[in-house]
Amino acid sequence: MITVMKFGGTSVGSAEALKRVANIVANTEGDRVVVVSAMSGITNFLVSVVENPLTDPDGVIQQFSDKHLLTASQLFGGETMDEFRAEFDARLEAFRKALLADREDPYYKDAVVSQGERFSSLLLAFVLRDQGLKSVAITSEDAGIIAVGRPGNGSADLLNTATGMTMKVRPLLSMGVIPIITGFYGTGSDKKPITFGRGGSDYSAAVVANAIDADMLEIWTDVDGFMSADPRIIPDAKKIPEMNFGEAAELAYFGAKVLHPRTIEPVRLKHIPLKVKNSFRPEEPGTLIHHLRKSTSEMLRSVAAKTDLSIITISSAEIAYRPAMVARIIDKIADINVIIYSISTSLSTVAFLVHNNDVKQTLRQLNGLSGGDIERIDVKNDVALICAVGDNLLDKCGVSGDIFGAVKEANANVEMISEGASDVSLNFVVPMSRVIDVVKALHDRFIGGQR
Ligand code: ADP
Ligand code: ASP
Ligand code: MG
Repeated sequence: MITVMKFGGTSVGSAEALKRVANIVANTEGDRVVVVSAMSGITNFLVSVVENPLTDPDGVIQQFSDKHLLTASQLFGGETMDEFRAEFDARLEAFRKALLADREDPYYKDAVVSQGERFSSLLLAFVLRDQGLKSVAITSEDAGIIAVGRPGNGSADLLNTATGMTMKVRPLLSMGVIPIITGFYGTGSDKKPITFGRGGSDYSAAVVANAIDADMLEIWTDVDGFMSADPRIIPDAKKIPEMNFGEAAELAYFGAKVLHPRTIEPVRLKHIPLKVKNSFRPEEPGTLIHHLRKSTSEMLRSVAAKTDLSIITISSAEIAYRPAMVARIIDKIADINVIIYSISTSLSTVAFLVHNNDVKQTLRQLNGLSGGDIERIDVKNDVALICAVGDNLLDKCGVSGDIFGAVKEANANVEMISEGASDVSLNFVVPMSRVIDVVKALHDRFIGGQR
């Protein structure tokens, strides 16, 4: 039995939290592979370092080092501390090099913002060793996690990662060693780190589970499981005991931050069940996400919202009768790797939903289309996509009417709808200013009151 266990930022955010995690790992039977995020706050700190002029590199290194050394001193001493210091100093030197490298290098940011994981993994490995377990901290590159794609938004190469991990991680398991692997990034062919986007350690853990054919993936976080809505917006959100892969994938993709948007696919491919659990309350059963689940009669299971989006509407006479033109527009957007969250057409318009940050680049691309083909392009910024998920939602009669009735009560104008693309979700766009009210209205009407 192999369990891949991923611990998020708050779960490894202090000495006390790390001790709790070490107990969870120690009490898990069978072979264990651990993937960790950076200590909470560290990645945000590194992001601000790369986004601002680097006026005081020594100060940055000092602040970063102090935080981890203080935590280490609260966890162990003696020989363990001596061994820790040797590895810590080597990693700190590598951090200094990354920080002082060429800021114009397209991989610079990823090399710096992915540093936090290298230190949290070291801390956890040494806490486990201090408790008498065999454990090593290994970086993603040493574990064989291969990344492809753009810096800041990479994907794993599953096939090559599986080959690398079979050679590098499996032998550790057969020696009874618990590997603690850095989440958040992989490396390309030139060994430069490529991160998987914010929150990417969940995805790293799913990739590791896929690569070593794990029997279970556990995502340990700071809430009791996958909930019916973001508990920060809906304080009485309910924990969902069981979900299928499709539901969880849609919700994660459309904004439920508890899982990185791409966590599900690597485990779904190999039928590996996933549990979301609370490292602060390990006795709670959490949420089980897997293939099979009995249908339920409830209409909505969970609501998520993807914020900071824009609608780009392209107008051109009778565009609906010119499919080649629509194809060219999509091709142009695909060329720059911009994600289209939704798309809708009418006789003379095509509308796309993209992230606010991608609007400028998309408009630049579209301007390159031959003149006269496009009559006008309009942009509506600051909208959000609401994703309402329920079991076989679209088989249920009158669902849309009931949902939009609740949206109307929240005084929100629906700007765009996509129903039917997936049989578990109904997605629609509302202005950002109405998001919280709409999520509350849907939750109150279909989830809060019904159980
Ligand atoms: P970690 O650092 O463990 O990866 P994150 O902060 O990335 O943790 O994700 C956990 C947080 O996700 C929770 O604290 C919660 O506020 C938020 N969240 C958003 N939507 C949901 C949801 N549907 N279920 C549970 N948590 C959610
Ligand atoms: N530390 C990274 C982040 O904050 C990755 C993660 O937490 O999953 O985005
Ligand atoms: Mg996360």
